[in-house]
Amino acid sequence: MVSRFASEAGFSKKSLYVIQERIKSLPAGANVCSLLMDEMSLKSHLFYSLSDDSIVGLEDYGNGKSSCLLATSALVVMVRGILYNWKQPVAYFLVNESCGTTQLHTILDEALLHLESLGLNVVSVVSDQGSNFLKLFASLGVSPYHPYFEMRGKQYFTIFDPPHLLKSIRNNLMKYDFEFEGKIACWQDIKLFYDKDQKLPIRVSPKITDKHINPNGFSKMKVKLAAQVFSHSVAAGLSTYVALHAMPGSALGTAQFVSKIDTIFDCCNSLSSRDPKFCRRPFSHSSPHMHEITKGIDFFESLKAINRQTGEDRTSYLKCLNGWIITLKAISLLWRKLYSEGIASFLITRQLNQDPLENFFGSIRQQGGNNDNPTPIQFQRAYKKLFHSNLLQVNTGNCEDDIDESLVKLANIKDTSPPDLTMTTNSLQLVTPDYRNEQFQNRMLAENAITYVSGYLLRKTFLKHTCNLCKSTLVDDDSYDDRRTLLSFKAYDSDSSYGGLIAPSNVMLQYTIQLEDTFIKHLRNLQKVTCVGRDLLQLLESIHLDQPCDSFNTKYLLMLFIRLRVYYCLKFANRELRTPGRKNKKYFKVAHL
Ligand SMILES: [Zn+2]
Repeated sequence: MVSRFASEAGFSKKSLYVIQERIKSLPAGANVCSLLMDEMSLKSHLFYSLSDDSIVGLEDYGNGKSSCLLATSALVVMVRGILYNWKQPVAYFLVNESCGTTQLHTILDEALLHLESLGLNVVSVVSDQGSNFLKLFASLGVSPYHPYFEMRGKQYFTIFDPPHLLKSIRNNLMKYDFEFEGKIACWQDIKLFYDKDQKLPIRVSPKITDKHINPNGFSKMKVKLAAQVFSHSVAAGLSTYVALHAMPGSALGTAQFVSKIDTIFDCCNSLSSRDPKFCRRPFSHSSPHMHEITKGIDFFESLKAINRQTGEDRTSYLKCLNGWIITLKAISLLWRKLYSEGIASFLITRQLNQDPLENFFGSIRQQGGNNDNPTPIQFQRAYKKLFHSNLLQVNTGNCEDDIDESLVKLANIKDTSPPDLTMTTNSLQLVTPDYRNEQFQNRMLAENAITYVSGYLLRKTFLKHTCNLCKSTLVDDDSYDDRRTLLSFKAYDSDSSYGGLIAPSNVMLQYTIQLEDTFIKHLRNLQKVTCVGRDLLQLLESIHLDQPCDSFNTKYLLMLFIRLRVYYCLKFANRELRTPGRKNKKYFKVAHL
């Protein structure tokens, strides 16, 4: 059985406890790590989890902080070792659209506080250049002159995921010409080179394909395609063609640009000391990286993006240029710090990207049957599973194969629940009701739904106890109004299990209407997604049912009502969500009976 504690949104005490236990078994020095944050899209869907008594699918920041907004994405916080290979999801949050700056700030602050108190030494924070992350870091004072922020007196270096930056610079080169050191780089040159090269029997750059030159939606996401364009072979090929007068001399600018980006990315993507390219080897005290990074910073600072049609200077619109400068400065400061403080004698910069988080998202999608956008409950279940198990290998993702081992595997210890934190969830203990039955559903849609539900609740509750005293106040066999007509008409239905319909008295009917009104009011102003049934029960128990029999099981009736109403509310809300073209899908709409 998979334990429940990783399923809650937010920083759950139980998840943190498990992480703490695992950290204890890490080797010395392995606690130096990065905090990773990213969001994935979800498909809006609502689900009531009976065992947790919670609604999954609304905004959820954990610790009871929720809203009536539908969750459309999940923010995940992960930690990743820098000097040792390990990774661990820490928490997730269900958010509408994307997580706002204020919430992100709170989450970052809490995450750092928790992780440091568990004994981790977080030195950097990694994200992509999503506008909410950019705003967050700007609000924390991060800039090209200041590539870090401080919290509680500690510095955290800000790194924008280098693979994302590489794709950004490629996408911008497809739109604009880049001017640097009096030269011009343009995508046309790369296109022309490819056109000529692919016609040759033996090609200079055989890896380059149409997908590299005209990347569409999906191939635009693949880092590898961008990395293969900004490669030594394309730079060398362009230079060769110029030397042979097969291309204009101006293409040398493009060749140099390609070569510079190649070297800069290598510095951010170093891995093996056996790599033939120097910059792809780990940083060490004598390595050329710092020199190349300094050159890279100068390069991005002087780069100009020009609209080739209008001649307009677009440089200030390109977020990725500042992104590169901040990242390169952060990496060099981080390396200096680790080296000078004797924490590390070498640095593998590939450990600084957010690949493990992207691969984690890939695994989540895989768990839901390769669902591009899982629903919140599918996300939650997959997250819970992956929190504990070794992460699945994803080969189709847009990241280099994930070389990390999950912290779980590295530590190889059993999940232990903290003894002092026993689960306190009180689920609604109920017999399985038959309201999912098709016939019942049809009747729910009928005009007199409230009368029908009222009668249904009575019939079910009378199975627990009934007597003449109960019936005398709650049942009305004699009155002949419209409602009664409808019920007697319905009683002619052939289904014998519904033959015993009960006509509620006016007392019972007024009571049911009060239950319904209170229910609707509560759900429309839902403040938290946990303890949904428990809170409703408390609320509905305060409504007085005026009847003389002490043995009548009101509590059972209320629990049945709650289950039935929650079930139908979510069912109808989900139906709305699936209806194409419906507007205003931002909120959870609660419909009356
Ligand atoms: Zn009774």
